[in-house]
Amino acid sequence: MTVRDEILSANESYASDFDKGALPMPPGRRFAVVTCMDARIDPAKALGLEEGDAHVIRNAGGLVTDDAVRSLVISHWLLGTQEAFVIGHADCGMLTFTNDVLHEKLAGEAHADADGVDFLPFPDLEASVRASVRRIRESPLLPESFGVSGFVYDVTCGRLNEVAA
Ligand SMILES: [Zn+2]
Repeated sequence: MTVRDEILSANESYASDFDKGALPMPPGRRFAVVTCMDARIDPAKALGLEEGDAHVIRNAGGLVTDDAVRSLVISHWLLGTQEAFVIGHADCGMLTFTNDVLHEKLAGEAHADADGVDFLPFPDLEASVRASVRRIRESPLLPESFGVSGFVYDVTCGRLNEVAA
């Protein structure tokens, strides 16, 4: 069985006893989370979230980018979320490369010129979380009442540790 087949089969079985088809669109817990795409993080399990509870915004690094702000603005103003967690994590892949390294890899292996692309790697995890929290706090598109906290998730024990502002 290929991974594709395994995943489609898992979905068949998920859908066969699916009973959450009547949930409203706005997140019931009025909560959003921005976190890394890292395969070791399961936000639903780690944060006790069920379908319908929260918006989960993910990208490489769990960064509050322009696109993450776009999602949060929609999340808050159109769908009623009041608070967000920004969650970085120990052993993040974004700590392991620089733009130069990835630019060279793309040039060498794909003959692609990505020199103008910032892949947003970072050398300091907590500083990155703090900067992302600040971007939400300082966004003119989100109100001061919108709560935001920063955390580092420990992939070795599953625990969140709050990052002081
Ligand atoms: Zn990561």
